[in-house]
Amino acid sequence: MECHEAMASGEAAETIAETEVLVIGGGLAGLFTALCAAETGRVTLVTEGTLLASNSYWAQGGVAAAIDDEDTPLLHAADTLRVGGGLNNPEAVRILSEEGPARIGDLLRLGVLFDGGPGGPHLGLEGGHSRRRILHAAGSATGSRIVAVLAERVRRHPAITVCEETVACALLSDGEHCSGALLQHRETGQRQRVLAPATVVATGGASALYSRTTNPPAARGAGIALAAAAGAAIADMEFVQFHPTALALPNERSFLLSEALRGEGAHLLNGAGERFMLARHELGELAPRDVVARAIVEELGRDGTDHVYLSLRHLNVAPLHARFANIDAYLHGKGLDLATDLLPVAPAAHYLMGGIATDSWGCTTVAGLLACGEVTCTGVHGANRLASNSLLECLVFGARAARAAVAYASYMKVSATNVAVDAILEPVVYPGEPPEAELTRLREALMARAGLVRDEVELAALESDLAAWRDSMDATLRPAIDVAAMIARSARLRTESRGAHLRADYPAEDPSWAAHIILQDGTARIASHLPTATWLPMTALAAFDHTHGNGAIGALAASRMPAAVLGGHRDVA
Ligand SMILES: Cc1cc2nc3c(=O)[nH]c(=O)nc-3n(C[C@H](O)[C@H](O)[C@H](O)COP(=O)(O)OP(=O)(O)OC[C@H]3O[C@@H](n4cnc5c(N)ncnc54)[C@H](O)[C@@H]3O)c2cc1C
Repeated sequence: MECHEAMASGEAAETIAETEVLVIGGGLAGLFTALCAAETGRVTLVTEGTLLASNSYWAQGGVAAAIDDEDTPLLHAADTLRVGGGLNNPEAVRILSEEGPARIGDLLRLGVLFDGGPGGPHLGLEGGHSRRRILHAAGSATGSRIVAVLAERVRRHPAITVCEETVACALLSDGEHCSGALLQHRETGQRQRVLAPATVVATGGASALYSRTTNPPAARGAGIALAAAAGAAIADMEFVQFHPTALALPNERSFLLSEALRGEGAHLLNGAGERFMLARHELGELAPRDVVARAIVEELGRDGTDHVYLSLRHLNVAPLHARFANIDAYLHGKGLDLATDLLPVAPAAHYLMGGIATDSWGCTTVAGLLACGEVTCTGVHGANRLASNSLLECLVFGARAARAAVAYASYMKVSATNVAVDAILEPVVYPGEPPEAELTRLREALMARAGLVRDEVELAALESDLAAWRDSMDATLRPAIDVAAMIARSARLRTESRGAHLRADYPAEDPSWAAHIILQDGTARIASHLPTATWLPMTALAAFDHTHGNGAIGALAASRMPAAVLGGHRDVA
């Protein structure tokens, strides 16, 4: 049955439904988690828009995985750690790089076609990677191609109930256990409590809190607000990654010009036409994102302008038109030519490294509550994410969260705990669009005061504005304000510069700050490690694996996927 029908047809003000695994979010993390969990469990997937409305849909460059004969998971892990500013969780990095190739195998078996030719997939290069290891689809339309295939699989899966246009407004939690969520349909306004022993939050990032962003407008961190209100620990919120090369046209949104363009040889030029990255880093334009973004900010300060340029003029761009077809088309629409024009670019908020703290199984500090994808802080990215590692993170940790969720659901052996099931719940997230003027004010404040470069004075002013706005602004903005306050508070506490966090008043990295800022129940603490979850007994996981196998999709065992095994490629022109 369609979830929408069940909700809309209920006569009571609020209906109740049960499931084994409730997945909140229909991006790559949510879709993949749902498919993996549905191998053995009953799943309900709830998402705010349609299954095609997510950041994942817009991903361009691709997904990184060590599948080439010249590559290894160890090299991938080393690159991830090198750019992470010393804050990565090494175990999470090991898992990402080792399990990545098998998850790519899952995508292929599900029907995703990556670009390539008779010799195997075409692998792109991006900043911070020492090897070509970025798989891409339809040129730079990777996200939409993967999402379309998975969304179709999810829709057709008999064990998955899909609830589109449905917002998770609150989690059913007493601060220690979670037993589902309160949902509201966006059109009918009908509310429903879905009771589930395992709830997986996969609601994505929060970079649309900034006025200059590559993210679609809905990415305002709702899941982080939900989890925090449910008592979960939140970590590393000061680390917001600014993508160095977002198209900077007056009065236009910041369209991403993929890092893969620099991987194919594009140069960055300042106002004087000089390649300023050569003097700054041995990898030049392919230095890690934080290094390139900082260099651009320095150039802008020196030139007194608001953009530098990306140039492909020196390249043979004929093949690049096909490789970057959607970027090419977008530029064309703006009267620019990929081959011949200097493309104005400036950094824009792109990715949140922080989020809901989870262990390597996606378990949060609240029993029965799991999370995966950009909404989490697994520690895999540290203080700065390696390009194209986030789609992989959705797959690897989505599969793990699915395993943990179904194992926990079968271990609990009841449809749900009784926690908070009957409680009167005040929504944390309200469906509906916030007033435009207030949203703009919030986003501009974040950009100006907690942007790429921060300092004490601006962050303190931001914190006080946010405290005032929480009461004065529309309730639809409250979760966004709460998440913005987490960013401001953490950025203010971290009196050093590290990875994506750049403090003008503390420009150096401070070894004593090799630690995480954890926010929970209104308090902040500094910890050498991310919190560990202890509520999922490993015996339950082992028993589950014993019965069902431990592969992701269809108990697929391959741990490494040689290039020659990959099938169904599309030729790159
Ligand atoms: C322009 C762009 C290009 C990118 N390119 C790449 C790339 O090439 N490679 C790479 O690795 N990464 C890339 N990224 C980053 C990557 O796309 C994201 O980190 C990743 O897709 C996040 O996936 P997710 O499933 O965690 O979240 P999302 O894809 O953002 O999905 C979140 C879902 O949750 C839903 N949701 C939110 N709140 C609620 C709620 N309260 N109730 C119900 N549903 C809710 C949303 O509607 C959405 O469906 C790019 C990002 C952007 C913006």
